[in-house]
Amino acid sequence: GFKMGIVGLPNVGKSTLFNALTRTAAAQAANFPFCTIEPNVGEVAVPDARLDRLAEIAKSKSIIPTRMTFVDIAGLVKGASKGEGLGNQFLANIREVDAIAHVLRCFEDGDVTHVEGRVDPVADAETIETELMLADLESIERRLQNIVRKVRGGDKEAVQQERLLNEARAVLEAGQPARTVDVADEDAKAWGMLQLLTSKPVLFVSNVAEDEASQGNAQSARVAEMAAAQGAASVVISAKIEEEISQLEPDEAEMFLEELGLAEAGLDRLIRAGYELLNLQTYFTAGPKEARAWTIPAGTRAPQAAGVIHGDFEKGFIRAETIGYEDYITLGGEQPCKDAGKMRAEGKTYVVKDGDVLHFLFNN
Ligand code: GDP
Repeated sequence: GFKMGIVGLPNVGKSTLFNALTRTAAAQAANFPFCTIEPNVGEVAVPDARLDRLAEIAKSKSIIPTRMTFVDIAGLVKGASKGEGLGNQFLANIREVDAIAHVLRCFEDGDVTHVEGRVDPVADAETIETELMLADLESIERRLQNIVRKVRGGDKEAVQQERLLNEARAVLEAGQPARTVDVADEDAKAWGMLQLLTSKPVLFVSNVAEDEASQGNAQSARVAEMAAAQGAASVVISAKIEEEISQLEPDEAEMFLEELGLAEAGLDRLIRAGYELLNLQTYFTAGPKEARAWTIPAGTRAPQAAGVIHGDFEKGFIRAETIGYEDYITLGGEQPCKDAGKMRAEGKTYVVKDGDVLHFLFNN
């Protein structure tokens, strides 16, 4: 599955947000057991109204949303790259995630200490980014040293690595995160394996006060501007409110959201933003037993999409019976689509589209 790491300075609202994400009644009602894998790791359902509509038409007994994993990565402080705070452990945790949700404190509250004694989310973002860039520079030096002999020996992979490490170093030394390096397609895999912290996509999360949840405030506006300038995404959320909502039953939660002037829970927006950030898509399987959503990276071909369900589906892949989501809904299910010639047999090179309703045929 895909993993997002929640990072930020102490006292910005990371844990509050994590708890809200993983304890929400909606996540639990969504018919998969919410599981805390470790105290700081949780899985959440990706909200998708299309799945409910499919289930209704297919008369599915159960509905199984696709999931995303969140990791609360505490312990980043100024000096982390030099081993301050949880230092290295923190950095190791970040290496394992696919993307970063960077929580920034945009709320004023005299009772909650700010580590720097003032509310300035843009400066806070820079503090964290600097630590990550320093950590990247250090690991680049280490790796360059480790591959010196192989490079001399003419090892092709090592030569490619060295070239990429040098490109990353140049960008970092100029004060830019590694994600600003323009990576060629043929280098993408080797680049990913470098696992540089600042090469991961970032979603800035502006945590605002309870009464600012719908509009944001001057600080969250600054964050949005900064994010846009970096080509990063941003969302406004009030972690405190999300925590309250997470303890309500779904219909109560809806009323509460209406009172606050919010169209949907901030968490739903956050989860979807993460999904977009990672360039992920959803396809569906639907039948009387269950309607289920599955996550794939955009551009995935049918056999690899089948492999998300089970490795055997990919190995023995024959074809995918495919119905577009809109057809499925407008015509009213699989049989009517078949009758209308809207069910296509797609082969190994088919690139799955977001919302496709698929049925895989495979050899055992
Ligand atoms: P972490 O150190 O980043 O994990 O921060 P926590 O989630 O533990 O939050 C630190 C403190 O800030 C707690 O007392 C929270 O209740 C409080 N807090 C978090 N979000 C908000 C918010 O949106 N508004 C207010 N007023 N307080 C908040």
